[in-house]
Amino acid sequence: MQTSPAAPPQSKFLPLAVRRWIDSWEGIDDPLPPRDKRVDWLRIMPFVLLHVACIAVVWVGWSWFAVGAALVLYVVRMFGITAFYHRYFSHRTFKTSRAMQFAFAVLGNSSVQRGPLWWAAHHREHHLNSDTPEDTHSPVRDGFWWSHVGWITAKFNFATRRERVKDLLKYPELVFLDRYDTLVPILFFAALYGLGAALERFAPGLGTNGWQLLVWGLISTVALFHGTFTINSLTHMYGTRRFQTPDHSRNNWLLAIITLGEGWHNNHHHYQGSVRQGFVWWEYDFSYYALVAMSWLGLVWDLNQVPPVIMTKRLEQAR
Ligand SMILES: [Zn+2]
Ligand SMILES: [Zn+2]
Repeated sequence: MQTSPAAPPQSKFLPLAVRRWIDSWEGIDDPLPPRDKRVDWLRIMPFVLLHVACIAVVWVGWSWFAVGAALVLYVVRMFGITAFYHRYFSHRTFKTSRAMQFAFAVLGNSSVQRGPLWWAAHHREHHLNSDTPEDTHSPVRDGFWWSHVGWITAKFNFATRRERVKDLLKYPELVFLDRYDTLVPILFFAALYGLGAALERFAPGLGTNGWQLLVWGLISTVALFHGTFTINSLTHMYGTRRFQTPDHSRNNWLLAIITLGEGWHNNHHHYQGSVRQGFVWWEYDFSYYALVAMSWLGLVWDLNQVPPVIMTKRLEQAR
């Protein structure tokens, strides 16, 4: 009996870039394309639209509630990125429960900075190759624009480099978030619209509505994105160097404010194993303070500190 060959699934008719809007792991086993800096415009269209949609503020206007919500969402989600995507998933500098790990992975994911595994894998690569020709995002090697946003738009950086995050692959819930990394952002923006619409009806005095809250949520997200990625670009360009690390990392007080403590990047490159990035008392590190508060509640524990020898090393170098 002759059987006709099975028809390819419908989704295969769509370009790979579009299929990856939904399942970012599509084609993950394909060999990595060579280091090609051209922009994959189709793949990054949702990212471009995220920026363009902010222009709608001209039509939706503002209210104190919407602006306040944008600010709070910036701070809370920045904490999700700095404390969990960075200090927990990328560097494992403290411990927490599986439920908390998932909850904060969802929070980080709502920042529209891809999934926790993708983020951690690329960040670990950065530490392995900082400011060498192999660095994912070095402003010293490839210029500001590339290190800030260019690297995210290039084809060879879209895949999650699973070999770098073998410790995280054993959690199917994290793998799910990483594969379908647009799901949480879509739910997040839908919830913002729903909240705004409900407030328009039940609390009209606040002067907000669905579209307004949605647009201010987008503005908050774009600001959060560029705030976060100043650490990849500007903290390898401007600031002071306490430690003679082999890279160009710097400590920058201004960027430490907008990133809740990540601006002490030279400290961090010198000793990645510490949960705190401000190494001395005046180097404010809001992410660390919040993690300490969470540790008092038993939500996180085993916060790795800076061993005294790390600071001594610095004094020896300074002599
Ligand atoms: Zn790091
Ligand atoms: Zn760095």
